[in-house]
Amino acid sequence: MTRNFFTVPLLAAAVAASVPAATKPKLVLAVVVDQFRYDYLTRFRSSYTGGLSKLLANGSVFTNAHYDHFPTVTAIGHSTFMSGATPAISGIIANDWFDRGSGKTVTSVTDKTAKILGGKGEGGASPRRLLVSTLGDELKIANGNTRVIGISLKDRSAILPAGHMADGAYWFDASDGTFVSSDYYFPDLPGWVRDFNAARPADKYVGAEWKSGDGKVVYKKMAPTADAAFYKSIPATPYSNELIEAFSERAISAEQLGRHDSTDLLAVSFSGNDYVGHDFGPDSPQVRDMAIRVDHLLGKLFQYLDREVGMANVVVVLTADHGVAPIPEVSTARKMPGGRMTAGVIQSTVQAKLTEKYGEGKWVISPSEHSLYLNLTLMAEKKLNQTEVIESAADAALTIPHVFRAYTRDQLSRGGLAADQIGRRVFNGFYGQRGPDIMVLLEPNWLFGAKGTTHGTGFGYDTHVPIIFMGPGIKAGTFHQRIAPNDVAPTLATLLAVETPNGSVGRVLDEIFLRD
Ligand SMILES: [Zn+2]
Repeated sequence: MTRNFFTVPLLAAAVAASVPAATKPKLVLAVVVDQFRYDYLTRFRSSYTGGLSKLLANGSVFTNAHYDHFPTVTAIGHSTFMSGATPAISGIIANDWFDRGSGKTVTSVTDKTAKILGGKGEGGASPRRLLVSTLGDELKIANGNTRVIGISLKDRSAILPAGHMADGAYWFDASDGTFVSSDYYFPDLPGWVRDFNAARPADKYVGAEWKSGDGKVVYKKMAPTADAAFYKSIPATPYSNELIEAFSERAISAEQLGRHDSTDLLAVSFSGNDYVGHDFGPDSPQVRDMAIRVDHLLGKLFQYLDREVGMANVVVVLTADHGVAPIPEVSTARKMPGGRMTAGVIQSTVQAKLTEKYGEGKWVISPSEHSLYLNLTLMAEKKLNQTEVIESAADAALTIPHVFRAYTRDQLSRGGLAADQIGRRVFNGFYGQRGPDIMVLLEPNWLFGAKGTTHGTGFGYDTHVPIIFMGPGIKAGTFHQRIAPNDVAPTLATLLAVETPNGSVGRVLDEIFLRD
């Protein structure tokens, strides 16, 4: 099965080999499919005829790429992708975290000094919380003519792969169905973005029916009018990805990507798969359909690029930001372990234990289920030993059924962790300035949430993702060695002969290069 699946057509190899070594790629297309497990490549392979099929036939395909951090969530996957850095180094430790200074939860891209351009214009976003450089930054430093653009449905997925020096990052405002950006990049939205939005591209899905491939099942019927509820429903449909693809084509044309004397970078993240995946799980027909539709959209984007830039000039790299757990009820039906945790059980157990031991007070000050920030001020007031209180809290968490491990700040700061891959992933995910006092891990296939499923663990279903490179200078072939998405950025930096992003911990995957 594996051999047939990955058999490389000789023609494809010959085409790739015919590209002159001296030709520097004109464009890097860096694609993330949000929540796309590696097994979506193998399970749905026979249905792929578009871009994924091209990548699998002509690219360097890695069958054992695993994230090496915890938690496996969107912001971290996207910051890792183009920086090669772990959260411990990049500072992007979660989608959002409790900020001790303000006493509030902040997101990975929250920036009060920046203003949203377009849409409802609420809040502010920028890459300022990212501590390291990206491939795009290094390309810009090497040659100021390079254009770097990030596009996604989600702000973090557009901003973090693009980096600090990007010419623009664009994401979707699901309150009014348009693409927005931040005044971090420019004072006003570029004209081409305003034109794109003015045509109300989302409105063509009013009343649309998302059907199965054979047309027999209606997965979703869109609202009959373009109102707030209609726009809000777009992310969890295939239409969100179609909008991302259409916007990407417009960006390529308007920004003249691939037409500069240096290599440009376009980072595109298809978020629709994640929303649908959370709702229906990895074993659902909806998730399969979303994967097949991404294959079609990538095919469309490649065709567009071929006309505009020539695919012989484009290096494509594809990955996912994380996988996902099976729906717990599906696990149970399979006689596999797994289940749902009671909401708030870790916080309430820790709160009760610390109250019993040290007296009244609000001991847990953060809202997150897994990452607990404790009340250090209260500990100081009561003249308690901080380390001891935090250890008591971790011990309390460990009494809860299906809690797998609990790591304290002390352990994480000093590296006193179980010397296995889970311990290493938690260590890689901890940045002391922003990190919690306790990180609590659940047993495999256990999760919080009353319905659907989620991701975030250090187990294989969340860490195992596709990595495929394709383009000039890159072999067609299959590689079974264990690698990490951290390897992508330093590999591309080497291929493009620019400096490696400054926080990268990855290996250069030089086995994919046709020649030095
Ligand atoms: Zn994600």
